[in-house]
Amino acid sequence: MPLAASVLVDGPSELVFDYAIPDNLKVVPGCRVRIPLRNRPATGTVLRVGEASQADFDLRYLTDLVDPKPLVTTPLLKLAEWITSYYGTPLEQVIRSIIPSSIRGEKGSAKTRRAAVLEKKPTNEEMATLAKRAKRQHDILSLVLVADKPLPISEIGGSSAAASLKALATKGWVKIIDLEIRRDPDANETFIPTEPLQLNPEQQVVHEKICASLESEKPVPILLHGITGSGKTEVYLQATRHALDLGKNVIILVPEISLAPQTIQRFKARFSDLENQIAVLHSNLSQGERFDEWHRIRAGKARMVIGARSAIFAPVRDLGLIIVDEEHEPAYKQENPPKYHARDLAVVRCHLEKCSVLLGSATPSLETFNNTLLGKYDIVHMKERADGAQLPLTRVVDMRIEARKHKGRDAIISDVLRTSIEKRLEAGEQTIVFLNRRGFARSLQCPPCGHVIECNHCAIPLTYHRAEERLVCHVCGHQAVVPRLCPECRDPAIRMQGYGTEKAEVILRKVFPTATIARLDTDTTRRKNALRDVLRDFRAKKIHILLGTQMIAKGLDFPNVTLVGVLNADLSLYAPDFRAGERTFQLLTQVAGRAGRGAMAGEVIIQTSTPHSPSIQFARHHDFDGFVTQELEMRQAFGYPPYTHLALLLARSSHERRAEFTLQTLHRKLEENLPEEIILSDPIPSPLTKSHSQFRFQLLMRGPNARVLSHHLNKILRATPTPEDVIVTADLDAYDLG
Ligand code: ADP
Ligand code: ZN
Repeated sequence: MPLAASVLVDGPSELVFDYAIPDNLKVVPGCRVRIPLRNRPATGTVLRVGEASQADFDLRYLTDLVDPKPLVTTPLLKLAEWITSYYGTPLEQVIRSIIPSSIRGEKGSAKTRRAAVLEKKPTNEEMATLAKRAKRQHDILSLVLVADKPLPISEIGGSSAAASLKALATKGWVKIIDLEIRRDPDANETFIPTEPLQLNPEQQVVHEKICASLESEKPVPILLHGITGSGKTEVYLQATRHALDLGKNVIILVPEISLAPQTIQRFKARFSDLENQIAVLHSNLSQGERFDEWHRIRAGKARMVIGARSAIFAPVRDLGLIIVDEEHEPAYKQENPPKYHARDLAVVRCHLEKCSVLLGSATPSLETFNNTLLGKYDIVHMKERADGAQLPLTRVVDMRIEARKHKGRDAIISDVLRTSIEKRLEAGEQTIVFLNRRGFARSLQCPPCGHVIECNHCAIPLTYHRAEERLVCHVCGHQAVVPRLCPECRDPAIRMQGYGTEKAEVILRKVFPTATIARLDTDTTRRKNALRDVLRDFRAKKIHILLGTQMIAKGLDFPNVTLVGVLNADLSLYAPDFRAGERTFQLLTQVAGRAGRGAMAGEVIIQTSTPHSPSIQFARHHDFDGFVTQELEMRQAFGYPPYTHLALLLARSSHERRAEFTLQTLHRKLEENLPEEIILSDPIPSPLTKSHSQFRFQLLMRGPNARVLSHHLNKILRATPTPEDVIVTADLDAYDLG
């Protein structure tokens, strides 16, 4: 029986067909092939190779290889197989995300321009004769002579020069070639070279550790726990240089594109001697730019790759080091299948390619931190700010008191924050005001006393379901009625609360009518470059107050910002998610890290209705150790990650009953032969009950072993047919709990 290949056909419809492989061709997954498609020739990418089954006997043969080398390198193919076995995502889907469509498809191609190069140098006499007989030819030849490199014809005079060029070519002086043009995403930027800084003692220890790892046979992942401003980026730069000196290449992952320009800037400035060897990969590139960057990496021309999550799939050869900046960021988790976590893949890839991995953060994730406790990762610390600056002083404002002062109306800006901003305006210093809108209020909090209604079994807030007027625990499914009075203080004011950045902007403008205020959130940054422009103006001190969401919490380095205000810390703290405390601690620590990065001391003001909550208090005192100790205790007591793995199963459909019924069926099947170590929750409506006109139902599974969990879940999913109009998705190591 012949071998068969599953081929993903180039084109928008992403069709997959099987073809028999001719004996004389060596076809492996990742190869580009020519195929017959409905009597016309087409091209595609091989996803899988296997024995053709009996039923496939009359398969058509694929015609030829486009390129003898596969697009996916062998280590990346191994990574793809790992993803398939761990997350249970079909291999073809994984390979589809490893090779971007602009690389696979017909759309992408190298950009070329016609150019003239010198073929033979004319003698002085020949030039003199030419000047007399054919002035135009003489002038063009002079240009080509001076240029000393291929000269695009458009710069010589375009089509009007065609006849003269042809004559020069016939005489053998000039050759016309197709010059490959690189579409450089940073073509319009200039980078002022920087010299390596003298590392301080803390940085030096970390640097030596990484150097040792780079030279080790079996490197162990390293967690760099360094406070905001401790000089982690300087360490990344010098570690990268060291890896390059050893002939090894480097991937640098950043959590979001909004942070990429800063990192790119610092790398291109430092590696100004090797600027052409830096490639960037993120979702803001045009198809052509992505095509060129990808092929520069594949060809080994680019030795450093800076990018967001999917850059973990960059086809880098001789990989020596992967740096994951802000490793705790949830943005590393891909929310569409394959739902991989880029930080975890970095660790796997390093294992497969025997290279080093450096995870950096001021607020490491509990998963990573726990791996250092278990001895799987090494940990190194940087506890001082590199430029000698002090950590900012943090004050916590009790908004229950403000609520009483303002008689129950939404108090948005406390008196303390208002006077502090006024001082900044007078002194010509800048303020960042932060509001976490993503965690919009879905839990009940009593404004006068700050009490939040929680599930007794699961230690997370109950979620308010407006349609059924019920409170639901979305971990265990426990339900409760909505109380009329606060169970703590008997006040009837308990209710949904919350306001967004839009309303906050209106209030800020009213309170500070003379200040220049800018707002950054997903609504205001839809326009291309909007984010970059606002940040540029802010750096140029044209903006006094910058108001924003998560987008402004991290990474930004503005020396003139001396005040950071957090409008409502409870929004993230009481999200119905067991990671809410961790997220809040991280957000507050990161956002506080934006203040006082220059010579002037910084101040942070946190507004909350639960001032004594541990996450807020630990963040206020910059106490990571205290925070993880108590948080890990909670996680262990309630059986949450990092002590378990967690899978979320979601069914959605425009038919409410069918989505619900499908999930109930799956629940029943999962219960049969359930491995003893797995805890299965009841199916419930998702906290986000309806989205994109689809009703959503979900259940959670937890267990100590990810593979046992994934195996059981995927076995049931494969064996259980679901109605066509119900979409079922599984998410292993889920971050977004619905
Ligand atoms: P992080 O990435 O940890 O937030 P950065 O690398 O941005 O920290 O460093 C914070 C500031 O300290 C930057 O302005 C940087 O130039 C400066 N810095 C870093 N390392 C040193 C050093 N060894 N000596 C002097 N200044 C340093
Ligand atoms: Zn519960």
